[in-house]
Amino acid sequence: MSTPPLGLALIKSQLKEAEMDDLWIKTKNLSKGLYRKWSSKYIKGCIENQNGPELERYALSILGPSPIPQDSIGFSVMTESQLYPSLALAWYLKRKGKTIFFGGKLFTIIDGNLLAKKFDFIDSVFSDLQSFLRYLGLEYDCLVPSPDFSGLQIDLYKTKINGTPKLVLPFILLEGCNKNCAFCVEHTPLLKINKLMIADFVKLKVEQIIQLKKKHKTDLFFLSDCAINNNILVFKSFIEELKRAKIQWGAFANAGGLDSATTQNMKKSGCKYLLIGCESGSQKVLKSMNKPHLVEDAEQSLINIKKAGIFNHCFFIVNFPTETREDFKETLKFLMRNKNHIDDAFTEIFDLRVGSYMSKTPGKYGISIHGNNGLLSQRYSHGQQGWRSVKLQGVLRHYQAEVQIATTIKLKRFINHPVKALSNLVYTWFVLQRRFPLDRLFDY
Ligand code: SF4
Repeated sequence: MSTPPLGLALIKSQLKEAEMDDLWIKTKNLSKGLYRKWSSKYIKGCIENQNGPELERYALSILGPSPIPQDSIGFSVMTESQLYPSLALAWYLKRKGKTIFFGGKLFTIIDGNLLAKKFDFIDSVFSDLQSFLRYLGLEYDCLVPSPDFSGLQIDLYKTKINGTPKLVLPFILLEGCNKNCAFCVEHTPLLKINKLMIADFVKLKVEQIIQLKKKHKTDLFFLSDCAINNNILVFKSFIEELKRAKIQWGAFANAGGLDSATTQNMKKSGCKYLLIGCESGSQKVLKSMNKPHLVEDAEQSLINIKKAGIFNHCFFIVNFPTETREDFKETLKFLMRNKNHIDDAFTEIFDLRVGSYMSKTPGKYGISIHGNNGLLSQRYSHGQQGWRSVKLQGVLRHYQAEVQIATTIKLKRFINHPVKALSNLVYTWFVLQRRFPLDRLFDY
């Protein structure tokens, strides 16, 4: 894995409760193998060409020569880049007589049965925690469990903050999302809580956080909900209660609806930073993305977040199919107008995801799909523009937006804190290789 997962800690807590802890296997950090010596693309080639000696060499470089005592081995796969290295290990371990199963976020997007059919060394694929626990004969109540990190390699949950590795524990308040953004593949419905139960629910969750804080001696938490303010009633009650936990936390958040009183309360509850999906500066594009916020909402939220002293990291998507040149300029203007309220920003070129609403209704967005681009993405044409032209336009817009962000937002940080900004830049480019900035939790 490259990102320490929460799911394993939730499974662990359920197994422990059912006294099935002996089923547990240890986690293994694959990041060295994934990102340094062997590229995912190279391993994919080895799997497709059934290059046994290379697959074995790769597996041994990760697992070492000692026999693995467990009978069943599970792989938690979040991204496509993690899939092929996991398949290579699975191929090897199957030859050692192990039962192999796969699970993780990736299988909420792609059909796990097809994978199991294609690779006969996989015994089962589970698309969610519930189905895996049901396979073990356990029931799972998503509202109650607290993650249990004991037995996991807790060092893998550390992240460098100002150069020092510190433990940041993931925790979830409410699973799922209720926003249905057109480009997104998150289809798990947001957990529903009866209004009368909210007070008890948030008390339980805060108590769990306090216990984790005591047990692992850390006050740093990442709340890994799709958006922490998805259910605004639960969220407001939660931040009120969270004040007594005395922790520092970060989370994803929806761009709209964060009024001044809420952001001030968030700060008091220990909120240090937010990762916010602004996506576009054009109202027309936001509407076709089915984003729930208005441009003005996002601007006001950013002002409130900034005033409260919470760091914000905003996400934007460029080259959305309905984004015209004028719409794109609106995004550049948004960045310019809000340069004093945005602390950092990250732009992505629109990617048509398999399983998203858009991939199921391409006609609505004026696109035609022309096959897959890897496992998770699709190639498409838009009006008169073929795939190459769409791609080129995306690269150009992305470049333009990044230049705007560098000159209006990042430059300020270089001027104010040159040494820290330079070390962050080097770390992001060379260690993280410009991957998703989640790896920099709290490092602001
Ligand atoms: S983009 Fe975020 S808010 Fe929208 S559906 Fe996906 S997870 Fe939910």
